[in-house]
Amino acid sequence: MLDTLSIRTQRTTASRLSQLDPEHIEFGKIFADHMLVVDYRDGEWQEPQILPYGEMTVSPANSALHYGQAIFEGMKAYKNAEGEIALFRPLDNLHRLNASAERMCMPHVPEEVFMQGLAQLIRLDADWVPNAPGSALYIRPFMFATDGFIGVRPSESYRFVIFTCPVGLYYNKPLRVRFEQKYVRSAEGGAGFAKNAGNYGAAMYPTRLAQEEGYNQLIWTDASEHQYVEESGTMNAIFVLDGRLVTPALSTSILDGITRRSILQLARDWGMPVEERKVSIFELLEAHRAGKLEEAFGVGTAATIAPMATIGYQGEDFELPVAGPDAFSKRASAALHAIRIGEAPDEHRWMVRI
Ligand SMILES: *Cc1c(COP(=O)(O)O)cnc(C)c1O
Repeated sequence: MLDTLSIRTQRTTASRLSQLDPEHIEFGKIFADHMLVVDYRDGEWQEPQILPYGEMTVSPANSALHYGQAIFEGMKAYKNAEGEIALFRPLDNLHRLNASAERMCMPHVPEEVFMQGLAQLIRLDADWVPNAPGSALYIRPFMFATDGFIGVRPSESYRFVIFTCPVGLYYNKPLRVRFEQKYVRSAEGGAGFAKNAGNYGAAMYPTRLAQEEGYNQLIWTDASEHQYVEESGTMNAIFVLDGRLVTPALSTSILDGITRRSILQLARDWGMPVEERKVSIFELLEAHRAGKLEEAFGVGTAATIAPMATIGYQGEDFELPVAGPDAFSKRASAALHAIRIGEAPDEHRWMVRI
């Protein structure tokens, strides 16, 4: 990628890279040395800067803290066998960030700032991109309101930041999940399609209740009838029903996951029927009874694919078949991995080398 933007960079004088044990990376605790910071004020984005990763000060009246004007993204950079680094579908993340921004009355981030900022930040911290199998550099772009004003109205100033952290192999222990029919993550017409901070805060309590009952995650259902699957935890939900890939159709209450899109594309490439439509609890339980619920899994950037082993419904647990090596979820996960580390042809041009 060509540098068209020269970003003022203040390098750290005390790299923390030696604190990283590449064999035992704990998710989300050790951050790479630098971060990109860009402020928005007076109706325009100011000059981007790369700074040592560190704390920032905000006004106590900061409207992100009070009213939740805050959005984020999650993506990954991968290293191939030659040590070259590539991002997976970064423009999709930018477009979604800007869709979230729109929903929350926040300014769009220009493509040049996002892409050049990412490329220059990650090149500077290239040694932080792990190359052990299954590892990657997790990238967290986010934006929040910075006005020190407690009136309720969209902020006039914002900060956009990108920081990164190395992540190891995500161990996909098959999940115990249950349908949630009381609490909702999001409703039609709400902001569930946006990656805004408040969606996560409000999901924590119902998730904790399920965890106290011995489940790992919830399968959220629709807000009006509590009959149709929305998502699983913070992942999109996909099912293999009688040889067909079935997933809830996108709506204003479902987040348009990039992993979801990629998995559906792979299935179509492989000639597998793909159905994006309403999926009811009843249909899934019926299919399970008939032995046709072959696989169920969540998909998202953190885990790629997280298979479900058990689905709970009104106090009863339904066990799913153990996914063998030929299972769709296993093949799709391996295919995505191979594309990401440059071991399989990138037919859809998903990877962007930096
Ligand atoms: C981020 C997210 C996903 C997964 O999106 P990816 O782009 O695949 O990482 C799914 N559901 C929710 C609610 C999310 O926030």
